[in-house]
Amino acid sequence: MESPSETADDRNQVIPRDEHNISRANISKSALKVLFRLKDGGYQAYLVGGSVRDLLLDGHPKDFDIATDATPEQVRALFNNSRMIGRRFRLVHVRFGREIIEVATFRAPANHDNDDHEIAEGSGRVLRDNVWGTFEDDVWRRDFTCNALYYDIRDYSVRDHVGGVEDIRNRQLRLIGDPEQRYREDPVRMLRAVRFAAKLRFEVEPGTAEPIGRLAELLDNIPAARLFDEFGKLFQAGHALNTWRALRYFGLLPHLLPFTAEWLGDDVDGPRTGFIEAALRNTDKRVADDQPVTPMFLLAVFLWGPVRERADYFKEHEEMSEVQSLVAAGAELSAAQNARIAVPKRFSYPMREIMQMQPRFERRRGKRAHSLLEHRRFRAAYDLFLLRVHLGEVEQEAADWWTKVQELPENKKKLEFAADKDRAKPRRRHRRPRKGT
Ligand code: ATP
Ligand code: MG
Repeated sequence: MESPSETADDRNQVIPRDEHNISRANISKSALKVLFRLKDGGYQAYLVGGSVRDLLLDGHPKDFDIATDATPEQVRALFNNSRMIGRRFRLVHVRFGREIIEVATFRAPANHDNDDHEIAEGSGRVLRDNVWGTFEDDVWRRDFTCNALYYDIRDYSVRDHVGGVEDIRNRQLRLIGDPEQRYREDPVRMLRAVRFAAKLRFEVEPGTAEPIGRLAELLDNIPAARLFDEFGKLFQAGHALNTWRALRYFGLLPHLLPFTAEWLGDDVDGPRTGFIEAALRNTDKRVADDQPVTPMFLLAVFLWGPVRERADYFKEHEEMSEVQSLVAAGAELSAAQNARIAVPKRFSYPMREIMQMQPRFERRRGKRAHSLLEHRRFRAAYDLFLLRVHLGEVEQEAADWWTKVQELPENKKKLEFAADKDRAKPRRRHRRPRKGT
């Protein structure tokens, strides 16, 4: 059964079914179907990557990836409910209702001398690597040891060629191979290191951690569209706060959110950090409560400080109004930030909108103030307004008023927003402060 390249190596371990904790009960039925059908078709089939890692950690994987020696065409031929996808790599998606199982053909590591892929001139970055390989090739092209474990559907064993099981036991995040070379091949691995360390609460093994500070600027060569994908994984997966702290600790923030990083300077436990961390904590809570999160809100939080500063400059030097200055600063910073992270307009427009809405919270009287409650971005704009208490830009009393007024029945709301001249009866003061007490 073994392919010729699976030569024995002292490290190649097969952990039999009764020596690991992976139970088929925790593997999705759809993934099992795909694995068995591949096996019955005469192919190798393994569960691989994050799902095996998370199963070994007693977690509940959210998606199940499969690796096989069948080519994408052969996989497609086995499943009607499948389609070929992928720009960077060709993969097959097998669909079961809302669940998608991703099936990838074993791939060779990126640095093979082969016509089928190119290495970016000078940088060592991999541009294309659609090169099929053996099981062994597939192991070595993966990033971290904990992500390179294979659950074999033939005998339910776990195949570990890189010491991943031991690293998981010791909660160590370790790159496979030479760390510097692996980061140069794909600098996004630096973000992945931070993300996994934060999510799994693993220690980044020193050899894996060391090059990050030195190589951080390689992230500047990564296409902004790919960084938008990473942005979601970093901040919308339920561990945003921890991930944020790790990004700062490893010096990656300036390459992802340069304006935010500059605005923060060395504020690590001051109001600016407090403002951002409160937002990240809210986001994590929403994810934990299964509420939807959008990148729009966090992007607004990240850019708010820089936008506020730029708007102040415009007000002073260009004689713009408060709103004009926020509109201009929002447009300028969102365009500049987009050069790093390509934020689709459906997120960047509302992001700018909720920043521009901030001055409207300063007025509490009249129809226009009242209508703010009905604005389709009210909720997000209000959340940003509340956070600004951290920055000392908003009084707690004002934040509380906007919180309270939303809860009031319609007639009471009207009264709260009524212009002073329209207030039917001035409320009588029941208690007068007595002098001398
Ligand atoms: P998550 O639970 O966050 O999805 P994951 O480990 O499944 O974690 P994915 O981004 O879904 O992460 O990738 C699946 C697998 O593909 C990884 O476990 C890893 O083996 C491999 N992989 C992904 N990206 C890279 C990369 N940039 N370099 C090398 N291997 C990678
Ligand atoms: Mg995954």
